Amino acid sequence: MEGAGMRVEEVLKQLLEKEQDSLTLMKKFVETESFSHDKDGINKLVGILKKAFEVFPVEIQEVVEQEVGNHLKIEWGQGPRQITILSHLDTVYPRGTLESMPFRFEEGKVYGPGVYDMKASYVMMYHLFNLLEEGSLPVDLKILWLLTSDEEVGSPHGKIHAMEEAARSEAVLVLEPSGHGGALKTARKGGGKFTVEVQGIAAHAGVNPEDGANAIEELCRQLIEITGFAAPSIGTTINIGEIKGGTLFNVVPELASAEVDVRVLEHEEGERVEQAFKNLSSFNTKTRLTVKGSMYRPPMPRSEETERLFHIASQVGKQLGLSLTEVTTGGGSDGNFAASAGAPVLDGLGVVGGYAHSPDEYLWLDSLAERTALLYGIILSLAQNR
Ligand SMILES: [Zn+2]
Repeated sequence: MEGAGMRVEEVLKQLLEKEQDSLTLMKKFVETESFSHDKDGINKLVGILKKAFEVFPVEIQEVVEQEVGNHLKIEWGQGPRQITILSHLDTVYPRGTLESMPFRFEEGKVYGPGVYDMKASYVMMYHLFNLLEEGSLPVDLKILWLLTSDEEVGSPHGKIHAMEEAARSEAVLVLEPSGHGGALKTARKGGGKFTVEVQGIAAHAGVNPEDGANAIEELCRQLIEITGFAAPSIGTTINIGEIKGGTLFNVVPELASAEVDVRVLEHEEGERVEQAFKNLSSFNTKTRLTVKGSMYRPPMPRSEETERLFHIASQVGKQLGLSLTEVTTGGGSDGNFAASAGAPVLDGLGVVGGYAHSPDEYLWLDSLAERTALLYGIILSLAQNR
């Protein structure tokens, strides 16, 4: 059994007996609030994680940022082979949310801000490193765990690190919460945000409307045009989510604007839609049209390599008595950036639960042991399958 590690069934059994430890750790992480825009909160969480993980034979690197909280890298082993694991430090809950949404454990479920998305993943990693102490990995393999600080706002700073690490990895495992019923995420849509502004000419609606140029009317015609960019049969959707314009009913409006969300499954679709936005021109030439924005997150397509990773996960799942399914989601994660760097990515490996980004966010405590055993089994399998 040299280098083969522990059987996953045995790992699961051991972890289920450690649920009290899991809760204690999780509580500490959840009660250190870390809203994306709360630099101090995130840096405090980084400090707590460093302290919790320094007990292992790991290299810990705090990546200092100026505008956002710091990122954290925790490395096990030397390489040159590398498997990257992705988590994020930030949550969507401003500081103080804990008061109305305290950390609590009730009837098998754990609640609290960011517990599911994705502070439980730190506990998974704690157990994983404990298991690795058994000396089960080949000496040429490195596990690099990256925790970004700005994922919930699109990773404007963290993405560089996610892409860099992914580029040198043979696999990237993302501990984002699972899909419905524990499904793994094998494809994610890319996202774009565009703003369309129309400058018209104000005039009196009764006295001299002919001197005006109606910005709202022009915007409506543009939006109909934009709706036509959608191609739902291949996953491209357009959502006009916000609209502003005008002042009073009897004034020809001078200004109008709209915010548009775009989701695509394929890179080429992102390029097509971006170009279509660039090609827009005024219907009423007395108005001035300005289009801003871009695709900000590349899609994570279901590649053959992702399929291979899913197959490995399914095999490990079987040993644990799980029949794992896979889903495509419209939501993004750092997995999108990792995939864009060319790495095989498997996402949604985190805990099972629900209601992320809402006051009822929860996870099933039992799933933490299960998913950790799954992660352990996948890593072992990847380590041996070169
Ligand atoms: Zn997340």
